[in-house]
Amino acid sequence: MKIGFIGLGNMGGPMAANLAKEGHEVLGFDMADVSIEGVTMAGSAAAAATGADVVITMLPNGQILRAVANDVLPAMQSGATLVDCSTVDVDSARAVAEQAAASDLLFVDAPVSGGIGGAAGGTLTFMAGGSSEAFAKAEPLFDIMGQKAVHCGEAGAGQAAKICNNMILGVTMIATCEAFALADKLGLDRQKMFDVVSTSSGYSWTMNAYCPAPGVGPQSPADNDYTPGFAAELMLKDLRLSQQAAVSADADTPMGELAQALYTQFVENEDGTGMDFSAMLPRFEKRTRG
Ligand code: NAD
Repeated sequence: MKIGFIGLGNMGGPMAANLAKEGHEVLGFDMADVSIEGVTMAGSAAAAATGADVVITMLPNGQILRAVANDVLPAMQSGATLVDCSTVDVDSARAVAEQAAASDLLFVDAPVSGGIGGAAGGTLTFMAGGSSEAFAKAEPLFDIMGQKAVHCGEAGAGQAAKICNNMILGVTMIATCEAFALADKLGLDRQKMFDVVSTSSGYSWTMNAYCPAPGVGPQSPADNDYTPGFAAELMLKDLRLSQQAAVSADADTPMGELAQALYTQFVENEDGTGMDFSAMLPRFEKRTRG
């Protein structure tokens, strides 16, 4: 396939390289001066999109996606597919989907989970929204860049799945961390706490697979001085998107709102920037009720 790839950062770079490695012809564009193995660089986003069967975007946010879509959609050939893998707000995903449909183009929103390691290793999970026809066009590329792709529904459904999942993740991480800090103050050994909770009704992915306590449970960023992993500021981005969606859909999400407030405090006023999102545990450790 002829693929245009726009946004070749931490995630997009290795994803584009994996497509090129499989023999696809990849024409890339990034605002920054980057070079990616196997990818030919174009002079603009529109140039990367011209003549492509599929154009993939991997960009920082919805505003940038909308701006890039304005450049790229008019350059795409009729019947081609735009696949946005960025994590953006649901409204931007739906707006770009409508714009694509008006130009006789297919669109899939396909945010990912799996982080930089998953991008490099081709083991991402894609959560996709769009028509069955659009999903079928993108699926062979998902198979190269990832290990699983779930077609979640119409346009915007991929972003909806992503932010709902990450809202649960943020809330659960905070609950796990505050419980560890309470257990400490009650004199409970952390290993015993893990042994009980990981096999009781308080178990979760954050406790069992990504335990925020160093030296307890499987290897996690806590065992590496809370080096990300999944950075606290990226968790904050996703919590903000979930609250933006909750306002837009008039959904009552008090725990998500509180998680957003705590991660905002952690990232903006404390030492959370550059730390893994599980560094909420040392934060709670240091605090009292006052
Ligand atoms: P990044 O900042 O490393 O990459 C974004 C790239 O887009 C940069 O290279 C930037 O120069 C480029 N860019 C910005 N504006 C542009 C424009 N107008 N035209 C062309 N290029 C432009 O970010 P990343 O970590 O690769 O993340 C990309 C997306 O993936 C984000 O939406 C993020 O939320 C999501 N995501 C990231 C991770 C992760 O662990 N990093 C995990 C899951 C999802």
